[in-house]
Amino acid sequence: MRSIVWFRRDLRIADNAALFHATGHSGNGVIGLFVVTPRQWLEHAEADCKVKFWLDNLAELSAELAKLGIPLRIETTDWFSGIPATIVNFAKKHECSAVFLNREYEVNELRRDEAVASACQKADIMVRRFHDRVIVPPREITTKEGKFYSVFTPYRRVWDSKALDYIESSPRPAGQPPLDIKPSKIPVKIPGFDFSKFRDDLWRPGEAEARHRLSKFCSKIINYNLARDIPSAAGTSLLSPYLAAGVISPRQCLAAAVASNGGQIVGGEGATTWISELAWRDFYTHVMVACPRVSMHQPFKLKTDALKWRTCRHDFEAWQQGQTGYPIVDAGMRQLNQTGWMHNRLRMVTAMFLTKNLLIDWRWGERYFMRMLIDGDMAANNGGWQWSASTGTDAVPYFRIFNPFSQSKRFDPEGVFIKKLCPELGSVPKSALHDPKKLTASIKELGIDYPDYVVDYQTGRERALAAFKSLGSSST
Ligand SMILES: Cc1cc2nc3c(=O)[nH]c(=O)nc-3n(C[C@H](O)[C@H](O)[C@H](O)COP(=O)(O)OP(=O)(O)OC[C@H]3O[C@@H](n4cnc5c(N)ncnc54)[C@H](O)[C@@H]3O)c2cc1C
Repeated sequence: MRSIVWFRRDLRIADNAALFHATGHSGNGVIGLFVVTPRQWLEHAEADCKVKFWLDNLAELSAELAKLGIPLRIETTDWFSGIPATIVNFAKKHECSAVFLNREYEVNELRRDEAVASACQKADIMVRRFHDRVIVPPREITTKEGKFYSVFTPYRRVWDSKALDYIESSPRPAGQPPLDIKPSKIPVKIPGFDFSKFRDDLWRPGEAEARHRLSKFCSKIINYNLARDIPSAAGTSLLSPYLAAGVISPRQCLAAAVASNGGQIVGGEGATTWISELAWRDFYTHVMVACPRVSMHQPFKLKTDALKWRTCRHDFEAWQQGQTGYPIVDAGMRQLNQTGWMHNRLRMVTAMFLTKNLLIDWRWGERYFMRMLIDGDMAANNGGWQWSASTGTDAVPYFRIFNPFSQSKRFDPEGVFIKKLCPELGSVPKSALHDPKKLTASIKELGIDYPDYVVDYQTGRERALAAFKSLGSSST
């Protein structure tokens, strides 16, 4: 038997279930396949930097696969709807009788995979699918009544008791005698995407880079609980782009964290807190699978769909461009625009600012983040947005609205991060950065070109409270 391994967001050799099983069952060899779908990616608001990161990682993957004698071929079809025919034709051309793949859980991806499975069945091609994207597969964690958990804490308790059962990695696949098929050239351009601003100094591709990040981070994991909220400190792992593209597996991350934690899931505060973030990642995928409407632009709390969001383009653009007059919000948005990544604390601050202080629909922000993030992941992004907007599972109560000035005073007291991203505020005294009246006075006195507040904090807060209150009690 000759098989295809259809790579998607699992661009790695190590601990890759589909690849491992394919190499064990294909006496006539394995061919790697990646399908480029430019128009579908545009419709899904994939970020320029994310697509570039995929291509860079495909080049690394292709070189590593070649060492195992496995060629990586690239096919292109504009939409997911073209993939079933593409795969069947590819299989026929290269005499493959099986397709191995790791599951994806978003609605369009599930439909695409069903269409591929049915086209393959008709063509007598076997399809084998594996759970590989999260640690504990979706639907494995349910309440005693068999329902899904919509609150993280009880989910996490069960997750803690199960995660170690899934920690074992798939062994490295064996090499094969070279096939008479050459690897494809990896495209350097994709229609509709602009790679000119990609920060290759920040986001080096490859499994070796991801593993290096993981081990560097684990050497200081003990401090994670203290450092994770400080945007100016390198306190988090910066692994999210690698996890999103599958350059490293969440199991590899869990195994490394558990090893730094005396073999335990719960123990030292730093490691336990980081493991919790891996559990949040699983949780949001679990929510998306149990309640697919969240990935179809609908809120988890259906009643909040009646909320009268403002459709103010001016305010939305000020937020997008980091020109709201709130230094910590602007610094966060500029970090996103310049690097393709934003610190988690600032994702919460900026998302809550958009949905509460500006009362702009979370779906606008969700799509903008997706269009800009190198780590854009539908489940995590949607979960984060719906948490911030108080429309989701386990969301923040609507009346708890972050004050951006208190947030910056707490998490960037010296203004180090703000001044790096908003250099025009360089001469503003630090006390003024966290005080709206002093900031206005300081800007005027120093003649700085920095925007006035897009909305007065108190006015924005009261407007949001009134809008949520009008929904009645189930919006809490
Ligand atoms: C509004 C909003 C949008 C977000 N969008 C995304 C997104 O598109 N993609 C994404 O990967 N994360 C998203 N997050 C979660 C989080 O901000 C990022 O995962 C984190 O900042 C990535 O940096 P890191 O790798 O250094 O994280 P670390 O702190 O080192 O965490 C390790 C890993 O755990 C996972 N993780 C951490 N926090 C969360 C979380 N709250 N939810 C789910 N997974 C988490 C990530 O895979 C991360 O790489 C979002 C959060 C918010 C509030």
